[in-house]
Amino acid sequence: METIGQDLREMIRTPLATSHVEALRAAGKVVTHPKGTIMAQPGEKANRFVYVEEGEIEVVNPFTGERQYASTIGANQFMGEISLLYGGTASLSLRTVVDTRVIEVAREVFLTLMSQIPEMSDIIITVFSARRRRQLEERRSGLYLIGEEADRNVRRIAEFASRNRLPYTSVPLDSPEAAASAKSCSIDTRTPAVIFGSKIPITDATPDKIARLLGLNIDFSGDEHFDVLIVGGGPAGVAAAVYAGAEGLCALLVEDIALGGQAGTSSRIENYMGFPTGISGADLLWRGEVQAMKFGARFAMPRRVTGLEVQESGAFCAIFENGQRVRAGAIVVASGVQYRRLPLERLVDFEGSGVYYSATDMEARYCKDTEVVIIGGGNSAGQAAMFLSRYARCVRLLVRGASLAASMSSYLSSRLEADRGITIEYNCEVTALEGEEHLEGLTIRNTETGQSRKVVTQALFIMVGAAPNTEWLSGLVKLDDKGFVITGLDSPGSPFATSHPGIFAVGDVRAGSVKRVASAVGEGSVVISKVWEHVNLKATDRRNEHIDGTSRLDRGA
Ligand SMILES: Cc1cc2nc3c(=O)[nH]c(=O)nc-3n(C[C@H](O)[C@H](O)[C@H](O)COP(=O)(O)OP(=O)(O)OC[C@H]3O[C@@H](n4cnc5c(N)ncnc54)[C@H](O)[C@@H]3O)c2cc1C
Repeated sequence: METIGQDLREMIRTPLATSHVEALRAAGKVVTHPKGTIMAQPGEKANRFVYVEEGEIEVVNPFTGERQYASTIGANQFMGEISLLYGGTASLSLRTVVDTRVIEVAREVFLTLMSQIPEMSDIIITVFSARRRRQLEERRSGLYLIGEEADRNVRRIAEFASRNRLPYTSVPLDSPEAAASAKSCSIDTRTPAVIFGSKIPITDATPDKIARLLGLNIDFSGDEHFDVLIVGGGPAGVAAAVYAGAEGLCALLVEDIALGGQAGTSSRIENYMGFPTGISGADLLWRGEVQAMKFGARFAMPRRVTGLEVQESGAFCAIFENGQRVRAGAIVVASGVQYRRLPLERLVDFEGSGVYYSATDMEARYCKDTEVVIIGGGNSAGQAAMFLSRYARCVRLLVRGASLAASMSSYLSSRLEADRGITIEYNCEVTALEGEEHLEGLTIRNTETGQSRKVVTQALFIMVGAAPNTEWLSGLVKLDDKGFVITGLDSPGSPFATSHPGIFAVGDVRAGSVKRVASAVGEGSVVISKVWEHVNLKATDRRNEHIDGTSRLDRGA
């Protein structure tokens, strides 16, 4: 299956060309750092690009100060990873091994150079992506989680980091690593904890606090004005961000939970053109995010838009859940759909502690060698069953109807039937959940016979369809009777225009859309030409008003 970036160890490194190095030198300054200089610390703003001309830089363990990787950054190589593109923070400690001469270029200047020299940008982004991939795979980073398996709050941070492709280190509560790091931060060795940097335990860690520490651009003063605000970071929103950036629009994408949307929770997308061996949704969307960042689009997450207002000028003001606001000339609604929950007693108690709505690598780890129950008869449930059967002892798929024919693609249902690790039960529903802190079992009722029985399980996946995320639109656009956004009615020029000029809708949230990754990406891509027209029309109107106003003043009006 296709994966993000290349493997750093197998990669044939393409050095920067002499002309690239000259451009960096002309834009930055040459500095010699003595042996033992700390060049970056976890949590420190990634505000400069560093190219090594002579010398060596190593990655060090923030707790012990010892070298962490055998390989180092030598002459003709450079420091940094993807966080430099979005102005985030460093995630590793770096230190010079010997006196080291480097070229340092301020981030903003570096980004301008990247847009001017695409060949240099390709080389650097390839290495940055491969480094992020290695950090994700090796689970090494300045974000350190102790006791993910035992604590719901720590697990929430793990979920946020994992779904957003932010590297983190996770160690079990009673492990020697946990004891050593807890001791170095002077905290109780048996308490679950989130540590950032080397010695800062974070009390009451939330995804918001972590995003702030990682520098994920989530604060707004209210004065910012964007050409376009894209709400939702699924395939439709990320595609819109790529095209908006490429067309030179000043774009902000706001995402509530994790970039990737529903697609980000799919372990294997097999029907997206260009990836014959399949690609995980998270990888696909991460590629899109990097591409959009390269074109200058900004991302803010976790941030939820809760309301939308129209200003006198016709521009929009979006309100976030924390009360902050941003203004934009146009809105792309790409907020998709969210999973339906089931009316089960104690469901809330077990959400995140045995009850899950997506099946990613993270949930798969929690299900290792256990019995897993999945509710649902659609493609999402089928894909989850195939994926989890690789980790779980056995998978039980519960279907409300009498067959899968009407709800699941036939290639998938025949694979499920052929998989000996998967049992499919028809005409049944879950009626009760049991457990103390964590789910321990559930009751299944056969709707034909009326008989109930108990099953011991620590993992229940609920995948029973979805409802559109449109409540934040504040009644500004027409919705159909199920809450999906109606488009193309009042403005025949664009199939994605809503009933309100300047608001466009794409992807799953749009009434009548085909609920697939490819169509969401397609719609997100093509809508930008209409957004561009709208923004430019408004700018021309403003210029004309200004000229009219000036001439009136000149005439003494
Ligand atoms: C498990 C699973 C497997 C799938 N497999 C396939 C497949 O193999 N092939 C295929 O073609 N399709 C597949 N699909 C369907 C596909 O993923 C969707 O059609 C696609 O993701 C829709 O993209 P979207 O961008 O329109 O919306 P979504 O993916 O739903 O993304 C919407 C995003 O908006 C965010 N959001 C919502 N409200 C707000 C708000 N107020 N403020 C900020 N952010 C907000 C959400 O958090 C979400 O991230 C699968 C879906 C699932 C669930």
